[in-house]
Amino acid sequence: MNKETYDLIIIGGGPAGLTAGIYAQRAGIKTILLEKELPGGQVNEAPTIENYPGFQTISGMDLGNKMKEHALSFDLPIESQGVQSLKVDGDIKIVKTDVAELKAKTVIISTGAKPKRLDIKGEQKFLGRGVSYCGTCDGPFFKDKVVAAIGGGDRSLKEALFLANITKKVYLIHRRDEFRGENINVERLKKKDNVEFILSTVVEEIKGDVKVNALNLKDIKKGITKDLPVEGTFIFVGVVPRNEFIETDKDEHGFLITKPNLETSMSGVFAAGDCRSKTWRQVATAVGEGAQSLASVEDYLHNLS
Ligand code: NAP
Repeated sequence: MNKETYDLIIIGGGPAGLTAGIYAQRAGIKTILLEKELPGGQVNEAPTIENYPGFQTISGMDLGNKMKEHALSFDLPIESQGVQSLKVDGDIKIVKTDVAELKAKTVIISTGAKPKRLDIKGEQKFLGRGVSYCGTCDGPFFKDKVVAAIGGGDRSLKEALFLANITKKVYLIHRRDEFRGENINVERLKKKDNVEFILSTVVEEIKGDVKVNALNLKDIKKGITKDLPVEGTFIFVGVVPRNEFIETDKDEHGFLITKPNLETSMSGVFAAGDCRSKTWRQVATAVGEGAQSLASVEDYLHNLS
């Protein structure tokens, strides 16, 4: 193997990838981490995090920055490169990016996930003009305005709380009458005077002229439709993986299927964090998987030599 071959390429700089990077540097494994956006990943978009041990309450941006600084303190090389493909050539993995072709003995994929779209009329048209997937990023543009948050998961509940503190009113619209997200946040939302729940209801269209001015809603129990005036709509209906560049076993939603040691169906290619097929996506689980994947990388490298 030539001297430019890395022991490990980590693709994705969220909590899973940065944790794997910290462990790799401490283990003396020749590593590079590739991240096409901001290190920290999706965590940067969380208004507050209250369930990551050691931080009673911290903004996602602050936690992401602390993780990045921690990794950099161990001199983890982090490069801004978007990965286009990952191929295996014998024991060598070839990672093609927008600027280079890199080789490694192992790869950890920790590319996370991105917001799922509702795929309804008006969603694309009003993107950036009243439609957003990030309350923390765009909420301040809606100060003292009436907005909707769509979805019933953890993200929707937390973002609705964040938006309630900035905006005049938040309609929380969910397709069922039970929430998937943590009850503690449902109870907090119930105590807010400016939050109204609209349940068993789907959004059929986002309407507007230059900007969003209404949502067309359908009450799925009564079959009744109506327009709800809003100035902004925040969509939090789950996540889809960012794994397009890799052809390996995936579940029906495109998340990477792994063995118990987090190896994908490609030998020497591991996955950690939200891009993996699983039911529970938390910062704490992503961090745990980052550490676990590195232990598997060490085993793999040991068996190669
Ligand atoms: P999620 O848990 O998958 O929830 C998605 C929500 O959107 C569900 O309530 C779902 O409804 C609804 N939904 C999905 N497709 C829809 C559609 N086409 N139309 C209307 N509603 C739709 O997603 P998430 O809230 O983004 O969270 C993703 C992962 O990150 C989860 O594992 C979550 O626990 C984790 N997370 C954790 C925290 C934390 O603080 N611990 C914060 C954010 C995210 P149904 O309930 O009817 O399926």
